[in-house]
Amino acid sequence: MVQTIETISDPTAMRRFSDEQKRAGRRIAFVPTMGALHAGHASLIERARTSADCVVTSIFVNPTQFGPNEDFEQYPRTLEADLLRAGQAGCDIVFTPSTADMYPDGVNCNVNVKGAIVETFEGESRPGHFNGVATIVAKLFNIVSPDSAVFGLKDYQQTLVIRALTRDLNFPISIDLAPTSRESNGLARSSRNVYLSEAEREKAAVLYRALCQATASLAEGERRRHVLDQLLADTLGQVPEISIDYARAVDAQNLSSPEQFGAGSDVVFLLALRLGCVRLFDNMLASVPAV
Ligand code: AMP
Repeated sequence: MVQTIETISDPTAMRRFSDEQKRAGRRIAFVPTMGALHAGHASLIERARTSADCVVTSIFVNPTQFGPNEDFEQYPRTLEADLLRAGQAGCDIVFTPSTADMYPDGVNCNVNVKGAIVETFEGESRPGHFNGVATIVAKLFNIVSPDSAVFGLKDYQQTLVIRALTRDLNFPISIDLAPTSRESNGLARSSRNVYLSEAEREKAAVLYRALCQATASLAEGERRRHVLDQLLADTLGQVPEISIDYARAVDAQNLSSPEQFGAGSDVVFLLALRLGCVRLFDNMLASVPAV
């Protein structure tokens, strides 16, 4: 028999549930999502399960992190399948607020994140996106009040924003970052992959190839940023249908662009591009050995 998982949509009821858990001495781990759950989300829930007594997943397609010309209306919504997947992965409660629950009087207060981590790359391509993310995550943290929260490294720049938010607004929540779950050809799983045709899915494997080649080149001793950038562009250029938004090697701590990566530094390769009607993005972390 399929066990149906419990959902809560009212923020006050969600907070009451969390308070009860805490009073009973149970640790809560939280996995925020926008739904259309896939194996990547499931891996986050499974990871949360290992560190807590109670796992809460939220499903909320947050309108304030979508730009006016983005896919908010079309974003896949698959609640029934999501509840099944969340339950199978070990989630206890799914928080499913409506937009009216989360923004009863519109948006009057905003978390405003500053600096390079929100002004470059995704921040530049999607103005206001990270303030929308930071605001909804702060609201969810206040409602769910978890001990820990799991986020995917798939959204690398977002993890920097979440770390800054948690530190600067003093949320007593431990942030756990989970590796990217990939399909067998290396394509990072994403709710938006449903928009790709079968042929495009095959072509999209080039992102992972580009990331692996750049990582290998760094491991073999290449330290010059422009050479690593060119390597990414050349590999992606093998698929003419791709239009590159950015493909760059940057410092993983602050997204700066040194001429050369020094010994002991952490590097992240960041990719965002269009293939057909889909915007894909992916990344890979690598370290330069300390001498
Ligand atoms: P989303 O529903 O796209 O907002 O994603 C919810 C969470 O799942 C975020 O922390 C994402 O980084 C994470 N996530 C999305 N795709 C993957 C993936 N392929 N592997 C691991 N985590 C992922």
